Formats: sequence, C-alpha cells, structure tokens
Amino acid sequence: MLQELQKIISEVVVTRKIERKLQVLVASIKQAVNCEACSIFFVDESNQQLVLMATDGFYQEAVGVVRIPLNNSLVGLVVKRAEPISLDDCAQHPAYYYVSETGEEALHGYLGVPVIHNRNVLAVITLHQQAPTRFDVDSETFVITIASQIADNLAHARISQDLDDILNEEIPRGAFHPIKGLPGAPGMAVGTSCVLYEQMDINAIPDKKVTDLETEVTLFESAVASVKSDIVRLKDKLALTVSEDELALFDAYILMLDGQSILGETIARIRAGQWSQAALRDTLQEYVRQFESMNDAYLRERSSDVLDLGSRILRYLRKDRDDRKTLADKIILIGELLTPSNLAQVPIEKLAGVISRHGSRTSHLAIFARAMGIPAVMGADLIPIEKIDDYQLIVDGYKGYVYVNPAEEIQQRYTRLIEDEDRLTSKLLELADQPAQTEDGHSITFLVTSGLMSDFDPAQTCRADGIGLYRTELPFMERQRFPSENEQRDLYQSILQQCTPRPVYLRTLDVGGDKALSYFPIVEENPFLGWRGIRITLDHPEIFLVQIRAMLRANIGCNNLHILLPMVSNVNELNDALSLIHRVYGEMLEDGEDVVMPKVGVMIEVPSAVYMAESLAKRVDFFSIGSNDLTQYLLAVDRNNARVAGLYDALHPAVLKAIYQVVQAGHQYNKPVGICGEMAGDPAAALLLVGMGMDSLSMSASSLLRVKWVLRHFTLNRTRKILSDVLKMEDAEHIRKHMNHILELAGMGVLLGSGIE
Ligand code: PEP
Ligand code: MG
Repeated sequence: MLQELQKIISEVVVTRKIERKLQVLVASIKQAVNCEACSIFFVDESNQQLVLMATDGFYQEAVGVVRIPLNNSLVGLVVKRAEPISLDDCAQHPAYYYVSETGEEALHGYLGVPVIHNRNVLAVITLHQQAPTRFDVDSETFVITIASQIADNLAHARISQDLDDILNEEIPRGAFHPIKGLPGAPGMAVGTSCVLYEQMDINAIPDKKVTDLETEVTLFESAVASVKSDIVRLKDKLALTVSEDELALFDAYILMLDGQSILGETIARIRAGQWSQAALRDTLQEYVRQFESMNDAYLRERSSDVLDLGSRILRYLRKDRDDRKTLADKIILIGELLTPSNLAQVPIEKLAGVISRHGSRTSHLAIFARAMGIPAVMGADLIPIEKIDDYQLIVDGYKGYVYVNPAEEIQQRYTRLIEDEDRLTSKLLELADQPAQTEDGHSITFLVTSGLMSDFDPAQTCRADGIGLYRTELPFMERQRFPSENEQRDLYQSILQQCTPRPVYLRTLDVGGDKALSYFPIVEENPFLGWRGIRITLDHPEIFLVQIRAMLRANIGCNNLHILLPMVSNVNELNDALSLIHRVYGEMLEDGEDVVMPKVGVMIEVPSAVYMAESLAKRVDFFSIGSNDLTQYLLAVDRNNARVAGLYDALHPAVLKAIYQVVQAGHQYNKPVGICGEMAGDPAAALLLVGMGMDSLSMSASSLLRVKWVLRHFTLNRTRKILSDVLKMEDAEHIRKHMNHILELAGMGVLLGSGIE
C-alpha cells in the first residue's frame, strides 16, 4: 500500500498541467481503491460553490460544468466539517444534493475527504461505490493520507492556474485578489517584477504570449548569432592547443545553429504566438527526448550538447530581457530565497520592493529591506515566481500581499496610499532634530542597527544616538575567507570614527543558525540549536582573539566601542569570553598600545539567559535583548519558517514577561538594558518596552522617526499603564489588537499599514 501511495503522490506532483494532474489523481485512487467513481471538487469561495474539476467514473461532460452549492450539499458538509464523511448510502443523507449530469444514480457507498491547506479546505475528493456499504478503513485512511500529502502541491497548482487566468485576461478581473505571504518590511510599492533565476533551468521557463512576433523573432535570431560568434571565437582560441577531432564538436554546434532544426523550429513556435524563451524550451525538449530515446550511446550523449547550446542562447535572451527590465523605473525583485547580496543585482535607486518565496520577517533579507526602507513580502511560497517575470506588481509589505497584474482600481487605491505614506514620511522629517522622549520629557536612547557598509548611512545614523547593534558577521559573510585583523580593524575604525563620541555596539561574530560562511561550512541536523554565536568563537579562540584585537585597535582615539556577546546561554561562556577579552587587552597594554578597556555586554536571546539574568548582570556592563532569537526560542518557532510564522509574535505574553524580567534584573544591578531585536522598531512594541523601563531601543534607520513620533505622543505613565493592562492579557493576538486600537485612537493608524483588505 505504501508503495502504491508513494507512486500516486509522485505522479501527481510531477504532472505540470492542473487538469492532467487532477485526472491522474482521481484515476489512480479509483484504481487503487477499486471503486466505481472517484472525483475531485474545488471550493469556489467567491461563488459559494464546489466545482467538479476531474472525475473517473462520472460523465466527463460534467467536468467544469457541475457546480454544487457549498451550503446545501454533502460535499459542502465535508468542507464545513473539514473532516471525512463516510456513508452506506449517500442518497439517504439529508444533505444529499442530486446532480443529474454526473450519472451517479446507481451508486450508494460514499466517502468524501477534504484536502486541507493552511487550515482551509481547498478541495474534496469523493469516492462512490455501487454496494450500499461504507468504504473500509484502509481505503479511507489511504485517501486521507493522499489528500494530506498533495495539499501543498494542489494549492500551488491552483494559484498557478489563477495566475494564468489573470495574466491572460485582457481585463484582469482576478487581479482584485492578492496572493498572500508574510509582512517582511513595511511599505507599499507598485512596480515591474524582475525574477532572479537561480540557474538556467530550461524546464522552469513559463509560457508567455507575445503580440509583436517579428521583434521576438529578431531577438531570437540575434541571440543565436551571438552564440554562433562566441563558438567561432572559442574554436579559434583553442585551435592551437586542441586536436582536429575535438574541434569537430564546435563545427557540429555551428551546424546545429545554422540548420533549420533549432533555429527554424523555434521561429515557427514564436510565429505561433509563444515568446522566444518558451519556444526555445519546447524545441530543446523535443530534441532531448529524441536523442535520449536512441539506442546508440554516442547519439544519446548528444542531448547534453543540445542543452548546452540552448543554455547559451537562453543566456543572451535573458540578458536582453534583463537589460530591458532594468530600464524600468521601479523594480520589484523576486526570488526563491533572496539574500542581502541579491539586492545589489539591480540598480539600487530603482529597487522598489522585494518578494522572497521563502523566509520570514526576521530573515536577514527582511532585516536589510527594512534598513533600506524597501517594502518586502516574505514566505510567499504560493507564488509560482517563474510565471510572474516582467509583470506589473503591487507589493504590500504591511499585510504581506502581492497583486499580480493588478486591476486599475486597485492600482489607483495603492497609488493614493503610497502618496499618503510619502506625505507622512516628509512630515516625520520635521522630527529629525527633536529629542527621542515621551510626551512628558522622559528620554530614551535611540540607536540604529546596522551590519553592512552599504546600509550604514551616516546621515540617518546622525539622527540616532549611536549604533546599537553592528552585526559583524555580515562583512564576514560577504567574503571568500576570514577577513584579516587589519581588514577588520579598518572596517570597525571607519564606523567608530564616524560615530564618535556616540556609542557603537559591535557584536562579536554570530554565525551558525541561518548565517553561513561559505569558507567555514557547518552541517547540522538542527542548526538553530547547534553550533552558533559564542559557542563557535569560544571553540575557535583564534577567530575570537583576532576580532577582539581588531576592535580594540579600531577604538584607539575613538573610545566609543561597546562589545556585545551573542548567544550566551550560561555563566561559564560569559566568564570564558570575558577572560579572553581581558587577555587581549592586557597583552596589548603590555605591548605599549594605547588601548582602553571597552564596556562589554551580553545579548539576552536565549531563555536560559533570562533566568540567569541576575548572575549575568553582575559580570557585565550592560544587557542588550535580542528579541528575534528570544522569541524564536521561547515560543519554539523557527524565525525563518513561513509555515509557522503565524505563531511568531514578539507581543506574545511569554516574550513580554521574559523581557520585563530582564529589564528588572539589569536595573537591580544598575546596568542599562537595551533591546536590539526587530521588536524595537515596531511602534506598538516600543510603547510597551518604554513602559518596562527599557533604556535604549536599537532599530533599523527607516523605523527611527516613526517610533519617535509615537513615543512623543505618550507620557511615561501612560506607557506604564498600557503595559500593566497588556500584562493581564493572555494571547498575542489580543495584545496586538489592543495595541493597534491604542495607536488608531491616537491618530497613528497609518503606521499599521492601511493597505486594502
Ligand atoms: C536577535 O536575535 O534579536 C538579534 C538582534 O540578533 P540576530 O537577528 O542577528 O540573530
Ligand atoms: Mg540573535
């Protein structure tokens, strides 16, 4: 049974076209269970109906035609209950809804199984048999297992289908509905999509219709001509070192490009309305299939030559497209799992938005997007990105929505919202020189979080009281090897010098988890609970000592260095790190260097550190709360996993109570407590943190003025009162709503993102 199950699932998953996919599904289930009919209905929420999408056993003419009411039918009941219904005789059930078009009269035994994705019923698989008996338990569990395993795939396929409709419609009616991901970085943008393809995967090229056929043909011919001249050049270059026989391969390539085969067939496909990339895809697939089916081993091998040629042509086609795309004024970058360095692949002044299929709000891409003030949607896993290259898109980073080919009305509404937001941003600029304090004058230290020279904007930083978190691992990640002590010193020095006398908190190397160094690979089953942060640097003191020495040297003449230790989970780690720092300091003094002992603090980002806060406070100069990891570890929710991102909320009462406890422990020992996780830049959270007595907030530069605006409207006592009310609440959602309500009443609803529901 297990083998059968796996076979069905893999067959369904690899089938590309949705109609075919569903047909394979129902036919395979019918055969495996040996019943009279198996069908699948899709839920059509907007019409409150279920549509018959495929059947094996009922009349085929009924497919796409039969629509059953959601509220008043047996299939509808499966949707409502979100669990299987098994009956001896379906016609006897009060919810039975007779449909004449299917020819189901003679069938009695019934099983309906929901296909559920993200808690929503997407479809229902129904089974019918002649005998007036229920399906046996094995059949029932078999179908339930299949339904649960194909749910993701069907959800993708369905979105893909919807997108096809949207993309192919002249008037995009479907474009009123967003595709949903997760909010990554606040803001909204309308722009042209630019998909970053990981590799030249020919099969991933989507279909696209073209109207200007002759331009497309010329584009293709010129790509082929470029490849041909590349090959001729390559052949001439190698002629002196390679034998005649080997050079013959290049002649074969040139022949293939000259002949009618690839060129002629692809042009014929373009003239039939297909864009050049997909026309080439079809031609190549055809040839590869033919070569691979040949008996002769030599000829079979030729399929790789065809693919190689194809990739060369494709590279030119894409280059031309990319060149044209980068001409667009506003680019929305899309990728599977974009990294901060991908952001540099388009002209930065044109980058209007970012969509990443994987990741979440605390992924490093999102952190960078926020630092740069660019809206981002993360974990948009349902978007078949290869389909939406070079289309008009709207990115709503507040709600995590993406509109593809948006309807005119939606575009106008977003354009208005963006204008409102721009007005707010310029209004907030008036606050740039105002102090960061509550309405009644209680000051809070406002710091910026940084990590790359590219996001280190002295102008923005000037509006803050210093740099609250500089992630030193990011420059490490950008290189091909560990940076030398001098390279590190130069980098740190330029930051310390630009900020002095304001403080800079340099965090020691925090790699591991989701932050990998290509030249220091770590393979672990469970990296977030593995070798991370201080654990690595204590095991490799040579890395730690060099970094500390570079920091102390950089601080000579600046005296604004604060060292921050990440991922400390016990007192011994802290003792060891402190003794290494003291050792470096002592050695440098002995060598006659003019160094000073910097302030050293610990990040509180592991639950054990919360409970050990008093012991830690005795040993350090300050605390900095890393709420990103603290939330992840307290709630046991992977910060990068879009599937559980709905559970990740720093306003969870457990997180708030833990943070409050840390503030009190720090203050008990007269040690300042700051926060450098993303939470500090969330206006609602910032009010609560100030109410707790947090001394400093470190956030991305783009959040500074917004948070300042909010704090200046509330007195310290009011924030304390809000905190005490919130601490009585029992769930994050309730707290979030309460805080949003408070901001709305204060006239600051615009900060919550007023996008379209
Ligand atoms: C944190 O965990 O809150 C933090 C600031 O560190 P990072 O996001 O770099 O892990
Ligand atoms: Mg952290």
